Amino acid sequence: MIEHRRSERSGGFEQNSRYGDALVYLKTGCTLSSGSSLEWKRLNRVNVKYFSVCVILSPHGKNFSVCLASEDLMPRRQLQAPIDLEDVPGYRWKDGLLGPDEPDPVGHVRPTGSSPFLVLCDHAGRLIPKSLGSLGVSPADLARHIAYDIGALGVSERLSERLDAELIYQRYSRLVVDCNRPPHNPTAFVTLSDGTKIAGNLDLTVPAAAMRLSEIFHPYQARIEHVVRTRLAAKRPTVILTVHSFTPWHTDYPTPRPWHLGLLFNKDRRLADALAEELKMTDDLVVGFNQPYALEDESDYAVPVYAEHRGLLGIEFEIRQDVITEPADQIRWGDRLAGALTAALRRITPEII
Ligand SMILES: [Zn+2]
Repeated sequence: MIEHRRSERSGGFEQNSRYGDALVYLKTGCTLSSGSSLEWKRLNRVNVKYFSVCVILSPHGKNFSVCLASEDLMPRRQLQAPIDLEDVPGYRWKDGLLGPDEPDPVGHVRPTGSSPFLVLCDHAGRLIPKSLGSLGVSPADLARHIAYDIGALGVSERLSERLDAELIYQRYSRLVVDCNRPPHNPTAFVTLSDGTKIAGNLDLTVPAAAMRLSEIFHPYQARIEHVVRTRLAAKRPTVILTVHSFTPWHTDYPTPRPWHLGLLFNKDRRLADALAEELKMTDDLVVGFNQPYALEDESDYAVPVYAEHRGLLGIEFEIRQDVITEPADQIRWGDRLAGALTAALRRITPEII
């Protein structure tokens, strides 16, 4: 199918096939928020060989910045962090993804919290923009873990309360766009999840993907980026804590998952080790390192981008969803993990607790 679409807002966009061959060019005089304009002008009318996304990142006044998310055109490091987005307004296209009456993707709790921990919950919500219908997924499947991390927001809120920690979470379903994936990773827009076909993602066009990134992924990441930069500029200790949940069974993994809690890290295991010691001392839990899966730069976003690449302490919690399904259990887990986190951080860096 040949598609052709132009946008005066972005300065121009054409797509010739489902997975690429996109021609992207910038409007003359377009003001870019980062990088030299020379670098960006070289992107004019280039042929994108692989699946790629043109992202309209942020309007600055009447100007728009454009990022081409393509591995063959830009160094990956430039893809992983949004660009100068501190002042992104809650801008929405008139005919864009989110309607004016739909919630902001970003939830922000205790922005003045005193804790060194910054709590993130990427898969907190399961909203789907009205313009996308149900993505072709049944209501029963939209209530499953494939749409969001069951129980994770409740635990995050309790952690935030107990630690007096700032919490940033995302309200839209990961089936729309996965906010814990680099945008260039194919699983950012999943087409099959735990046996369920996501029909609305099967023939996703580049402009459609760009819109989801622009209105959900990037505003969320931009808020986190802004908060982390602001904290570091103020010399505030900052420890990244991301909260997720997983299922006891999954079609992609043949064996049951015995762990109550997974402590996920990539290169820096200091916090995971200290937490394991604390949890061993206080609880009868099955705790796994990098279970039920490993955390990697390629398949994860928050811990690599906000913690490890900056040399900050960080950890991803994966909690089995059946132990945090009920609100009372979420509170109990929030309390137990808050205590362990405080003690673990004291072991590592006593000066900041
Ligand atoms: Zn998750």
